[in-house]
Amino acid sequence: MRLVLLGPPGAGKGTQAYRLADRFDAILIGTGDIFPENVKGDTPLGREARAYMENGELVPDDVVVLMVLDRLLQPDVANGFILDGFPRTLPQAQALENALADQDRPLSGALKFVLSDELAVKRLAGRRTCVVCKRTYNVEFKRPSHENVCDRCGGELLQRPDDREETVRHRLEVYHRDTEPLEFFFWERGLLREVEADGSEDHVTERAVEAIVDLVEERR
Ligand SMILES: [Zn+2]
Repeated sequence: MRLVLLGPPGAGKGTQAYRLADRFDAILIGTGDIFPENVKGDTPLGREARAYMENGELVPDDVVVLMVLDRLLQPDVANGFILDGFPRTLPQAQALENALADQDRPLSGALKFVLSDELAVKRLAGRRTCVVCKRTYNVEFKRPSHENVCDRCGGELLQRPDDREETVRHRLEVYHRDTEPLEFFFWERGLLREVEADGSEDHVTERAVEAIVDLVEERR
């Protein structure tokens, strides 16, 4: 299974990505992880990225694209992957589609997690993230067993700067502007399935699994 996850910040995409990767024995690829891996691992792409960062510049889109495509060529990905946080823009989606076509292993589909802006803001303002394993919690909806301690790994839980309300509003705007056009891109190809992201994580996972099974069967 080769899957792209879409959805606004706050839709619980990261958590669902973990669960779905487990369920379908696929490798989870988050752009948030690939980037530091390359820089730490001192890969050629990592060195290129670091050069931009050391000059105080943003790492250009094509370097990020190359990092993701490079990751998709690693042997552990042969059984399938779930992409979380990529593609974010139409050019990235196009680059991904081209690369996968070259490898003769097209996408199985794209799941869009649907959530209103208002609920997204409520969820994110209360979100806390494990500094070690990146698992997320919520001070209202999903508390850890011990305050500010990750249930999974014992890491410390913090609010990411990204999750402050004014930042969240801005991220939603950027999402609507840059990433929403991707829905049409995948819909045109018969690859898009919508998953209602309101409700418990278990329910959302169930809906997502149904959508994936549906996609995979349809493309057989
Ligand atoms: Zn943790």
